[in-house]
Amino acid sequence: MHIVVLGSGVVGVATAWMLQRDGHAVTVIDRAEEPAAFTSFANAGLVAPGHAYAWSSPKAPGMLLRSLWRGDQAFRFRPNLDPALWRWTLKFLRQCTAERASVNTARKARLCLYSQARLHEVVAASGATYDARDGGLLYLYREPDSFAGALEKMRILTDQGIALKSLTAAEAVAVDSALAPLQDRLAGAIFAPGDESGDARLFTLELAKACAAGGASFRFGETVQGFRLGGGSVEAVVTDAGEVAADAFVLALGVYSPQIARQLGARLSIYPVKGYSVTLPIAGRNRAPRLGGVDEDNLVAYARFGDRLRITATAEFSGYATDHKPADFDRMLSVARDLFPEGGDYGQPSYWAGLRPMTPEGMPVLGRGRHDNLYFNTGHGHMGWTMACGTAGITADLIAGRTPEIPLDGLLLQ
Ligand SMILES: Cc1cc2nc3c(=O)[nH]c(=O)nc-3n(C[C@H](O)[C@H](O)[C@H](O)COP(=O)(O)OP(=O)(O)OC[C@H]3O[C@@H](n4cnc5c(N)ncnc54)[C@H](O)[C@@H]3O)c2cc1C
Repeated sequence: MHIVVLGSGVVGVATAWMLQRDGHAVTVIDRAEEPAAFTSFANAGLVAPGHAYAWSSPKAPGMLLRSLWRGDQAFRFRPNLDPALWRWTLKFLRQCTAERASVNTARKARLCLYSQARLHEVVAASGATYDARDGGLLYLYREPDSFAGALEKMRILTDQGIALKSLTAAEAVAVDSALAPLQDRLAGAIFAPGDESGDARLFTLELAKACAAGGASFRFGETVQGFRLGGGSVEAVVTDAGEVAADAFVLALGVYSPQIARQLGARLSIYPVKGYSVTLPIAGRNRAPRLGGVDEDNLVAYARFGDRLRITATAEFSGYATDHKPADFDRMLSVARDLFPEGGDYGQPSYWAGLRPMTPEGMPVLGRGRHDNLYFNTGHGHMGWTMACGTAGITADLIAGRTPEIPLDGLLLQ
């Protein structure tokens, strides 16, 4: 078959790879000039089944409310008149019971573990290099109460087969000596030895090259506008450069998926949640972290990519703007300086902001809607790098008529 993939973020390119591996002719369309130019550009890089907790939890409504009057928070809700924001927020709040949080986390954990295994297969088959670093991730807790809470809830993940280990502050420093200056102020840490990190943009660029070498065609600088429909099928995608006909289509447009899906009669509950990232050259500093992780009480994530240190933070509900100013990074940089004072050159920051395509449950949307040859693979939220190869494999399975290897509860478009 000829299959058109809409979007060349990490999800679209991983899908193109899986479809090509199944013997399909693949065309990828993106309005950017290269792969991974939007949300997949500078994320935290954590491949983190050990951090698969659903954001919709009993604590989330309080965080949302507090953020209305406290501007410096890692979680920022900026109400506007967009009805999509209110519809999304109501659905999110309905997922914030302990029971829903547990179900959503268990499903996410299963998908993340499966996806990580598929990522390893893709890397082995494609030879993609992307400043990958295995050996685990560390989730750090400064407050005894929050550490105790984390130990209590980690069972939801260990029940899914994810290895997690509780560490004292001294044990955490033994795992990564860069944390030594913080030892006296750490309540403890959770170590996920199977988690890893790597640069999602480099991975996507390399995989796109491998797809192109295998015959896939990439059409950059071309904006998807709609579809030509025939009966219950999509006959062609309509772009600003004309029409591209195909046997099947995969919609992987990240935060812009709902606008395009609406033309097909599908309502996708995906809303942009802005995050900020800053990348520093390590520039010879010898106290950069060996492993990535998260400073949980400050909600700041970090990872080392070769000779670069990346720090990310903030979940901001403020629409589709990706603008940023240096002051937006003050809080996360002060946390980073506290964590790793000698971890990188703080005088040479590269700033970026991106939009996580979040669903209320935290699970992506797969499967078909009203049209028998259009498949969704979108809405990966804060874990799209972790989940990309898994949902790409499942999408290829669905197109081929194969039964996916994991249950699809909560994943198919309702
Ligand atoms: C600050 C931050 C930190 C994160 N950290 C992590 C992490 O540590 N681990 C993890 O697993 N995930 C992380 N994520 C999430 C992850 O980055 C996303 O889930 C993932 O990048 C989404 O990929 P995507 O391919 O769906 O979307 P995108 O990368 O946005 O790709 C969609 C593509 O569609 C194109 N497009 C959109 N509309 C059109 C149109 N009309 N016509 C043509 N092209 C169009 C865009 O140009 C874009 O290239 C983080 C995200 C952020 C913002």
